[in-house]
Amino acid sequence: MAETLNTFHIIGQEQIRTYWDALLRSGRFGHAHILAGNSGVGKDALAFYIAASLNCKALDKKPCGSCRSCRQIQNLEHPALQLIFALPRRSASHTDPFSGIKDPEMDLITAELATKAKWPYYQLQIEGANDIRIAGIRKLRKDIYLANDPGSTCVVIILRAHKMNVEASNALLKILEEPPQGTIFLLTTEYPDRLLDTVRSRCALHHVPDLSWELIKEDLVEKKGVNLVQAEICARMSMGDLAAAHRFAEQDNSFWLDRLRATLNVLAKEDFVSVHKQILILNNNELENDESRQQFLSLLILFFRDVALQIKEGDTALWATQVQQLNKLFPNCDSPKAIKAIERTKDALERKVHLQLALTALFFELRKRLRGNTA
Ligand SMILES: [Zn+2]
Repeated sequence: MAETLNTFHIIGQEQIRTYWDALLRSGRFGHAHILAGNSGVGKDALAFYIAASLNCKALDKKPCGSCRSCRQIQNLEHPALQLIFALPRRSASHTDPFSGIKDPEMDLITAELATKAKWPYYQLQIEGANDIRIAGIRKLRKDIYLANDPGSTCVVIILRAHKMNVEASNALLKILEEPPQGTIFLLTTEYPDRLLDTVRSRCALHHVPDLSWELIKEDLVEKKGVNLVQAEICARMSMGDLAAAHRFAEQDNSFWLDRLRATLNVLAKEDFVSVHKQILILNNNELENDESRQQFLSLLILFFRDVALQIKEGDTALWATQVQQLNKLFPNCDSPKAIKAIERTKDALERKVHLQLALTALFFELRKRLRGNTA
């Protein structure tokens, strides 16, 4: 079993794997499924695992992780595997999602897929790939009705399925209404609510829970050789997102801790000018890409969690002093509402809301929450 898990790089998620193993053995499962859960919990890894199970040639203990079919799924090159993901719009073609994409860009996309195949927690970074368009689904439709290998189960995996635009969603809906025999659809997403109701209602929804930070810490120590203290900081900062934890482990975290301290300092002050200044610094100089924005906000959430827990020196050396100071200065701090506000901002930024506006709204709300103001 351990070898199989290594093949698909899955950590944790015993419950949902056991559930799927039983479901697949029973042979009684629907043709469309949504695997929903936060970033980096292993939804895609699980989808590849299921695809491999369905096509594994071993007699029992599927997926074996070593037969030709399992290896092809692992490399994302199994002929029965259809992988759909957002692509940049380089032409107006309604039938070919790759139309207009030139060779150098295609090479980058291929390299991204190779990285994903090596480690399914990796999130594809394809410039300008903002949505999954109808061309992708039309091509899929053609491919799956043509594909006819009686020895394998066609598995369609739609990565970050919430990126499907309305046209694409409706095209998918048509396929889901009359699915070709022996084809299974797996939609992975962080935002199941953003899928069309009509698509959602045709799928079984499975929740993939967050990974514990202890599991992530262990993974960082074992796979990346990170030291224990650093592994703990990165694991906790990642908030259950294994991919984020791996990225944090490659960076110097003191930069982020400094940003956090500077921000808390101005939030604690009465004057609005310094709040505004700090927003400008973050906006203009420090939070330069989506990743750094999400990371900074994750750090803020983690901090307010520790404020709620009233952690003390010794619990974690990371920011115990700041937490204690904040608890002393603002004994009425409403941490749960502060965390909710930060989560909303993370979500808004994911949808490309203007950073400066989002931070301004957030910081003024956080000032209120610090003071326990429920207005
Ligand atoms: Zn196999």
